Amino acid sequence: MKWLMFLLLVLNSNFLAAKELPDYKADKIAADTYVIHGPAGMPSPQNQGFMNNPVFVLTSEGVVVIDPGSSLYTGRMVLRQIRKLTDRPVTHVLSTHIHGDHWLGNQAFKDLFPKAVFMAHPNMITQAKAGADKQWLDLMSTLTKGATDGTTAVIPDIEVDEAASFKTGGKTFRILAPKRAHSGTDIMVHIVEENVLALGDNVFHKRIGRMDDATFRGNINACDVAIKLGVKVYVPGHGPTGDVKVVKKFRTYLSTLYETVKVLLDEGMSDYEMKPKVVAKLKAYHQWNGFHDQVGKHVSLAMLEAEKAGFE
Ligand SMILES: [Zn+2]
Repeated sequence: MKWLMFLLLVLNSNFLAAKELPDYKADKIAADTYVIHGPAGMPSPQNQGFMNNPVFVLTSEGVVVIDPGSSLYTGRMVLRQIRKLTDRPVTHVLSTHIHGDHWLGNQAFKDLFPKAVFMAHPNMITQAKAGADKQWLDLMSTLTKGATDGTTAVIPDIEVDEAASFKTGGKTFRILAPKRAHSGTDIMVHIVEENVLALGDNVFHKRIGRMDDATFRGNINACDVAIKLGVKVYVPGHGPTGDVKVVKKFRTYLSTLYETVKVLLDEGMSDYEMKPKVVAKLKAYHQWNGFHDQVGKHVSLAMLEAEKAGFE
């Protein structure tokens, strides 16, 4: 009998793990633009994989969604927040890059809105089709202990690259796609009439994330492109929305880290020796979520990039 109870408990906890998300508040950041600021941290059973910043824009024709999160359930949660504001259909869904915490929520919109257009950078679509979709589904399931299970990958099919744009319901969406930035698959979305730029993960704010697929120099350039655009509101991929200071702050993180590593590399130091010196220079970021987990890896990655750059 005991084993039966145990079995029921296990089955029950698995069932609970794959449940709907609670509602997270949608913050109004411009006249018709909203951001649901996800909790800080890595995907976990507690946050059910939800930790990015989904954006949605109300237009007279419908709703444009950017990055509806990491699972079917985050996508559904985003839709519930949209439904508190409008009954109009979702017309467009944009994925800022290949990392699954941003786009696996697409599924929630695919069945309900068969006419919706799913857009992403050509490299994002290629990588997803080449197997990154499955890798991200598996990773999300593992990190959340099954909370995202039941999700299937809806890969965007409309390619948008640098300078692409579209208009819908009185709003203009312009794509900026700086190369070799956060992931080599990145787009940023300028919502022109709203004076808003959705940065994707080219900018983190108060949270340090992975740079495994990034280049420091490309990411610094992406920050410069964003700063030059000069909009009023900047939405990072993770962390609080704000003005241009949000971009400048992360740019300073990247440039301080990369430039310090370059100098120490010239002095012949190993990444292990560099780390404490780099950490000391980044005091302003010590309290950021994930800093201490990521900074060692970032130093190693910056060193590899600086070494390679020396041969270019
Ligand atoms: Zn990312």
